[in-house]
Amino acid sequence: MDFDQHFKHALETLKTEGNYRVFAEVERQCGNFPKVKRYIGEEVQEVTVWCSNDYLGMGHHADVVETMVNAVQSCGTGAGGTRNISGNNHMHRVLEEELADLHGKESALLFTSGYVSNWAALSTLGAKIPNAVILSDEKNHASMIEGIRHSRADKVLWKHNDWRDLDRKLKAVGDRPKIVAFESVYSMDGDICPMREIVEVAEAHGALTYLDEVHAVGMYGPRGGGISEERGLADRISLIEGTLGKAYGVVGGYITGSTAMCDFIRSFASGFIFTTALPPACAAAATASIRHLKNSSVERRAQRDRVARLRAKLDAQGIPHIGNDSHIIPVMIGDPVKCRMISDILMRDWGIYVQPINYPTVPKGTERLRITPGPLHTDADIDHLVMALASLWRQCAVAHAVA
Ligand code: PLP
Repeated sequence: MDFDQHFKHALETLKTEGNYRVFAEVERQCGNFPKVKRYIGEEVQEVTVWCSNDYLGMGHHADVVETMVNAVQSCGTGAGGTRNISGNNHMHRVLEEELADLHGKESALLFTSGYVSNWAALSTLGAKIPNAVILSDEKNHASMIEGIRHSRADKVLWKHNDWRDLDRKLKAVGDRPKIVAFESVYSMDGDICPMREIVEVAEAHGALTYLDEVHAVGMYGPRGGGISEERGLADRISLIEGTLGKAYGVVGGYITGSTAMCDFIRSFASGFIFTTALPPACAAAATASIRHLKNSSVERRAQRDRVARLRAKLDAQGIPHIGNDSHIIPVMIGDPVKCRMISDILMRDWGIYVQPINYPTVPKGTERLRITPGPLHTDADIDHLVMALASLWRQCAVAHAVA
């Protein structure tokens, strides 16, 4: 086989469909978020980021930065091994205690990313609980889907956020160990699940509940414990999973739950056992970030204010966006080529960085710009973004009318 020919052909297909992904080459500037430098060959352009998952700008927070720098200076850079072989560190334990406390759970277990935590935990639960069946919301993240697939357990999809469908499907499964896997904030539409109803249905069927709070931790709940904290449901959910790479501004993932469950996953998950542990400095910085957001709601309030202001300004200009109760504002385009083009023009002509979101991240025909306002976006940033979008919308409308 001519392997390169095969690769090139597949890439050409992606390009013709408008789904080929191109990196923006940017450099974050500590203390100047959400501005970044963008490199175009020799040229450098200052742009404003509107698509960062460093949702609260904690990756630049003075305490977090200082903690990480100090930890590197005292512990060095890497962990030096897996947690079982030479890589375990005091800072990992401190962070796990902080996380268990955040969600009101007995224990926590760290992973190298949110993706790995979902993959490892779901694949272990599905594979190691005899005769288990996993009931998965049809819009769950790729990391959950891959974990479930790898477990080889039976999988049943239930309609997105439809607890009545979940109830029917749980009933149909009958007397087997059942795991209900779902998310709180769905990252592409920004919708929030009917958590109470899902929990009640799962409880009625004696199911274990697995909740991904990746897009909610740090941002919802009085201490940043996510939607489960905000709604007073954390103690009724068996396992809460999250990331340290988004609102907490560092990197890493975790699960929290009973001591027996965390120890079970620690002892059987290949995605935990066979990989180098998180650098201690990352653990220390994440701990500082979590502690800060447990005690400060300033960032959360400012984020809400920015989101509301942007939504109102988009409405005033008639720019269509999905209404939801979260911090995620999807501006719908519905065509991959147009989506890429609008994103390119925003970057080139307006110094605005919003990544196009195309297939396979979202279904074909629902391509969008996913905008995530944060506490550090100013009124002027918002006005500039809305002016740019309004101008592009007018041009599209004229082009449409002429065609
Ligand atoms: N879960 C969900 C719902 C996500 O959207 C993501 C990433 O965007 C992850 C898990 C993976 O988290 P991480 O980026 O920490 O790997």
